[in-house]
Amino acid sequence: MTKAVEEVWDVVVVGCGYAGAVAAIAAHDAGATVLVLEKMPQPGGISICSAGGIRVAKDADAAFKYLSATNAGTTPDEVLKTLAEGMTSVAGFVEELAAAEGTEIVRSSASGNYPFPGTETFGFVTVEDGPDSGDMLDKSSVRGGEDGLALFSLLYAATRRREIKIEVNTRATRLRTDATGKVIGLDADRHGHAAHFRTNGGVVLACGGFEADYAMQKQYWQGITARSAAFAGNTGDGIRMCQDVGADLWHMWHYHGSYGLRHTDPEYPFAIRMKRFPDWLPGEQFPDDVKMPYILVDQDGNRFMNEYDPYLQDTGARPFAFFDPQRQAFPRIPAWFIADENGRKRHPFGKPTYHQAGMSFSWSSDNLCEVDLGILQRADDIESLSRIIDIPTEQLEHTIARWNDGCAASSDDDFARPAQSMMPISEPPYYVAQVWPLVNNTQGGPVHDERQRVLNPYGEPVSGLYAAGELGSAFGYLYISGGNIAECFIGGRIAGKEAGAQVKGK
Ligand SMILES: Cc1cc2nc3c(=O)[nH]c(=O)nc-3n(C[C@H](O)[C@H](O)[C@H](O)COP(=O)(O)OP(=O)(O)OC[C@H]3O[C@@H](n4cnc5c(N)ncnc54)[C@H](O)[C@@H]3O)c2cc1C
Repeated sequence: MTKAVEEVWDVVVVGCGYAGAVAAIAAHDAGATVLVLEKMPQPGGISICSAGGIRVAKDADAAFKYLSATNAGTTPDEVLKTLAEGMTSVAGFVEELAAAEGTEIVRSSASGNYPFPGTETFGFVTVEDGPDSGDMLDKSSVRGGEDGLALFSLLYAATRRREIKIEVNTRATRLRTDATGKVIGLDADRHGHAAHFRTNGGVVLACGGFEADYAMQKQYWQGITARSAAFAGNTGDGIRMCQDVGADLWHMWHYHGSYGLRHTDPEYPFAIRMKRFPDWLPGEQFPDDVKMPYILVDQDGNRFMNEYDPYLQDTGARPFAFFDPQRQAFPRIPAWFIADENGRKRHPFGKPTYHQAGMSFSWSSDNLCEVDLGILQRADDIESLSRIIDIPTEQLEHTIARWNDGCAASSDDDFARPAQSMMPISEPPYYVAQVWPLVNNTQGGPVHDERQRVLNPYGEPVSGLYAAGELGSAFGYLYISGGNIAECFIGGRIAGKEAGAQVKGK
């Protein structure tokens, strides 16, 4: 039996982070009627607690060369060329939105994260002063970068200026197709009631990845799962809906992730990000004044990685995935963080980020509240430290002595950590905590072409269906900082325009 259609819209956008908001604005500006569905109590997604930096480029050819090298053949040239070209013009689009809301963009130069050809063409655009969203956004539920909040406030103001309807607490559940397989609408759960939406132009899925879906992580990642660093709303819904209508998937293994700590309160659902140190470019001078005051050791008490990779937020999780077939175990999950009293006094070890109603956790400036909470454990000497980790004291003494010798010689002969970042661990008491891989955002999802049309495994578009943002991101191997947000704006805009343009008679 056919279900009754409740509402007809030109374009329905699923998800209201940066990508969904931009797609909605673009579809509206193309003359379409637009509805945005957001499953959480307020819009913003991960976007609202991000650092808010949009990657831009001066030259599209140079940006394409760089993106090609970092994607290692995992993404077709046409998709990367469109992204590269978009990076040269996206600043103008954001500037226009900002001007309409009485604010301005800020431009800065910053190379890519690796010394690939084209790296020097890049920069960032941010919006430092977002328009006042009054009490429309509950900012107390957001802990993250000021610029991320400002950028979302700008988009939110732009949707309100256009009177675009955003329905919160409304979860898209299934796409609807006609007899030819064309997507013609979707079903949703609206405030606990079934709702059906029919579309004239198309559906844009901008509903993020699977940061908070452990079942999906288990299927696609090497035996490990990782807690989201920020947000519980992205549970792979868009991926399942796309699979249901025949979409191909890509980049499912690839996630933007590092390592972090966990709260002792079982109600705290997120990983806690470490203090953010500056990224560094291999081959260039490392800053002299940046010290990372800790090491990581595995469950045997051995260091196993360079704790300070060039772009730690992106690749820091990868070394944790090592499986030891002799013991049939993952000896680095969890691993252990170790610092001493000098490190404790230097700066806060953790920097929580989240977008979640009712949450209020900040890291103390001297790390002592976290000792009281049990997130960090204190040990008066190495022997007590080794008891906490449950390894022989001599093993830990050996690891720490080798580290301290490396600090004295200004050289990490084991993992080539930048010498300037090294700090001895010698002043008791010591601080120790379990450390786990964490996911900032996933990159996997439906394959799309340069028009953001979702493709089936034969490379044919699934008619009426578009994807934008981190859902099916173009980044398939190495990521460029600010790339996901750039993609939200560039791909979101293309998807919204494309879907809007499909409406007959407009
Ligand atoms: C702390 C942190 C800092 C970051 N900083 C940067 C940065 O500076 N630069 C950068 O490029 N990237 C950064 N990232 C990554 C980047 O923020 C995200 O990849 C990007 O914002 C994702 O935007 P999106 O619109 O695709 O998804 P989101 O912003 O997550 O929006 C998706 C929305 O879809 C909703 N949704 C999900 N399922 C459904 C459903 N079934 N029905 C309805 N709604 C649904 C969700 O609730 C959510 O609101 C950062 C990530 C983190 C965690």
